[in-house]
Amino acid sequence: MTDDTPTDTDANATAEEPGVETSRTDGGTATGADDVALDPWGSSTIADYRKLFEEFGIEEFDAVLAEVPNPHYLMRRGVIFGHRDYGPVAEAMRNDDPFAVLSGWMPTGDPHIGHKLVFDEIIWHQEQGADAYGLIADLEAHAARGLTWEEIDEHARDYLLSLLALGFDPEEGTLYRQSGNREVQDLAFELGSKARFAEFEGIYGFDGETSVSHMQSVVTQMADILYPQLDEPKPTVIPVGPDQDPHVRLARDLAARMRFFRITESYFSQELTAEERALVAEAHAALVDLADDDGTIRCVHGAQYLVSGPEAVDFDADRPTVDDAVGGDDPARASAVDKLRNAGMEPLRPRVRFLSRNAPDDAFEALVERIDGEKRRYDEHVDAFDLSIEEAEELAREVEVDTGGYGFYAPSSIYHRFMTGLTGGKMSSSIPASHISLLDDPEDGYSKVKSATTGGRDTAEEQRELGGEADECPVYELYAYLLSGDDDDFAKRVYDECVGGERLCGGCKEQAAEMMREFLDDHQEKRAEVESMLDDLDMELESPRRTVAGETGD
Ligand code: SF4
Repeated sequence: MTDDTPTDTDANATAEEPGVETSRTDGGTATGADDVALDPWGSSTIADYRKLFEEFGIEEFDAVLAEVPNPHYLMRRGVIFGHRDYGPVAEAMRNDDPFAVLSGWMPTGDPHIGHKLVFDEIIWHQEQGADAYGLIADLEAHAARGLTWEEIDEHARDYLLSLLALGFDPEEGTLYRQSGNREVQDLAFELGSKARFAEFEGIYGFDGETSVSHMQSVVTQMADILYPQLDEPKPTVIPVGPDQDPHVRLARDLAARMRFFRITESYFSQELTAEERALVAEAHAALVDLADDDGTIRCVHGAQYLVSGPEAVDFDADRPTVDDAVGGDDPARASAVDKLRNAGMEPLRPRVRFLSRNAPDDAFEALVERIDGEKRRYDEHVDAFDLSIEEAEELAREVEVDTGGYGFYAPSSIYHRFMTGLTGGKMSSSIPASHISLLDDPEDGYSKVKSATTGGRDTAEEQRELGGEADECPVYELYAYLLSGDDDDFAKRVYDECVGGERLCGGCKEQAAEMMREFLDDHQEKRAEVESMLDDLDMELESPRRTVAGETGD
């Protein structure tokens, strides 16, 4: 989940004196870029962010925004556009419960303004009360990108300085490098026992040529993502670009595979799929209304209801039967009916089910012991009739932790848009003019902005008439993602003036260039101020692996 090379949109506007059009203030969607391809080590571009919702199940951040106390401006402006399961993090934030944030960087070059998005997201969560973690993915840089340890050390130092300069509190938070964190490596080993090479083939396209170290760096990343929960399970958010989503999905799967128990809702002894469960729930709710106060609702009644509706349900028969079959056009209903029919006279009652998957015997015994109220024990599971699903989840996690398990929450994630390159096309670390390094001389930063492509029209006259295309403009992105800071009014004013034709690109770029020069000046001054803090970090700034690998740095 390292943030490496923010890329994206293909803004083709050229003019010095700009123009107008739509009224969106969220940075717009990319046009002309590649199709969706989520590759953590590739040069990903995202042509259509909507596809991430449809094809990968990333959820729109707007849906959860109202649950976030004092949302960051990147959230308010739609730069953070998607999430997975951010609700528990927002809830913990609201309730002052423990939660964590973690992200990392593969130190392959200078930190630049794209990386600053993640720095800001970590620092903001830390300010909201999160246990904050920042990591240097040096094993990944060495294994996946082939960097020498000396190169890694040099870049790592630069990332750390910028993170500290932007406000990360190292006394409250944790900074580490993968190679120096034994707990992470031990956890990686454990997680590796639950991961299969076939999955790596499917998710990452690994094949017979992939090095073992590269595979190992994947399980190390999984361990990074779950590391904040080693001492205590807690909701944890991983802020990344959408190209890192494959890592998040795998980490969520592995977190679940490490759990001792899986909790489901059920109605009788057999396991149900989500679709079957919804149908049985519907049948049960209807049967509760139909049955006499003292009548027992049985599985066969549920089958009767699902086959032929409420009229077919016969509570008076000693051995009610289900003669009709469900047609093949509704397989979930047909399989639910089969299961209900097989269960026959078994009572149909809602319950939560604790399924053992990795639970040692003592953990299973402890769980059974600690379930309050009515319960029914089977070989591999136990049903509880007086617990809500939330109570069951909490109890299962408590028992798991008490009996030596991890009790991981599935990690959450938030996704930010990639920044457009200043020269149009994607922003790339390997194209200096396309991005602004946080180490750039402020005058160079000024010049890069002055030379940037824009969303302007061909002539000033056209721009005044039609307005500029702020949604296609890398300069507007600089305002929205960085230069406006927390000042929404200013960002909106720039946008409105642009699309309204009142703002021309020459003056607009001059203003942005001056602000960038000031930002870089200020940032680099702060980097110098925090330099001494590096010595106090609990981290080796020079890797001992240099000598192991034959690198001395001399
Ligand atoms: Fe031009 Fe500024 Fe509008 Fe971009 S935001 S198109 S630079 S006026």
